[in-house]
Amino acid sequence: MHRLAVAFLGSYMKDKRGSHRAKKRMVQDGIERLKSIPGWDPAKFVSTSTLVRLKEVQHEYQTRNTFEAAQHCQQCHQLRQASGDPTALCEEHFAQAMSFG
Ligand SMILES: [Zn+2]
Repeated sequence: MHRLAVAFLGSYMKDKRGSHRAKKRMVQDGIERLKSIPGWDPAKFVSTSTLVRLKEVQHEYQTRNTFEAAQHCQQCHQLRQASGDPTALCEEHFAQAMSFG
């Protein structure tokens, strides 16, 4: 999350004395402040971080699946014995593990 957005949300959460109207005003002020930062596009920011996280999860899932499949792959097995590396992958599974889909 954006550094200033975090600082703003932190101060907002800590403010328990302010009235509802004051909090609402504070939120509006914070949004205006963020909007004034050059290159800060809320819509773009959110979709980018969500997409990155989605790709991370997808890659994590795919990597786990690949290593599970490699347990039963004859080529991976041979490569592991030859190289002495228990995590070695054959060309096919290596490409699969490195792929982000
Ligand atoms: Zn394999």
